[in-house]
Amino acid sequence: MSLKIQKNINIYFKVKKLVFATNNLHKLQEVRAILDGKVQIQSLSEIGCLDEIPETADTLEGNALLKAKFVYDRFQLDCFADDTGLEIEALGGEPGVFSARYAGLEHDSYKNRMKVLRLMEQQTNRKAQFRTVIALVLQGKEYLFEGKVEGVITREPRGEGGFGYDSIFVPNGYEQTFAELSAEQKNQISHRAHAVKKFADFIVSR
Ligand code: IMP
Repeated sequence: MSLKIQKNINIYFKVKKLVFATNNLHKLQEVRAILDGKVQIQSLSEIGCLDEIPETADTLEGNALLKAKFVYDRFQLDCFADDTGLEIEALGGEPGVFSARYAGLEHDSYKNRMKVLRLMEQQTNRKAQFRTVIALVLQGKEYLFEGKVEGVITREPRGEGGFGYDSIFVPNGYEQTFAELSAEQKNQISHRAHAVKKFADFIVSR
């Protein structure tokens, strides 16, 4: 289908188009699945954004806003961005905003997981939560949406699915880690799912 026909169809059916300030394929798939075609999502690479977007704020809210505003300012496109942290009670809320670089600037998920398990070795309080903040910049206005899921940290990694800290986190009410649950199961209960649902309700109602 030509771009022009697609554009006309989108205008006719009022399909909204937003940039998701990420190139993480897992996240794109999760968010597209949750939005179920109600909003057309473009990734950073799809809009030709090759810049390293700064994530220098000290809160999830701040980082999500930095990313969404960066794209809005540079490309004049409505954009949303997420920032997620794993917050572990016994570690005073760490890794939190440092989740991606917990074991170093190389953003190595395996090393991050191993660091968490090492720090948690002596801990009996295994409570943790994933928290996602979505920042939306729509026609220059800023909006925030939050989603959380509570659970516990395992003693060793389990499961092959998912990404990041999925294999060491068991959501409350389940026996399996996020990496052992199917993508569909994770999408129904995850921190990102909760945040995206709030975001989707908002964007679809406008
Ligand atoms: P960010 O939101 O992409 O900056 O993610 C921060 C860190 O949390 C990265 O190390 C991700 O791998 C990890 N992370 C983000 N979302 C999830 C998730 O749904 N499951 C497990 N780890 C995640």
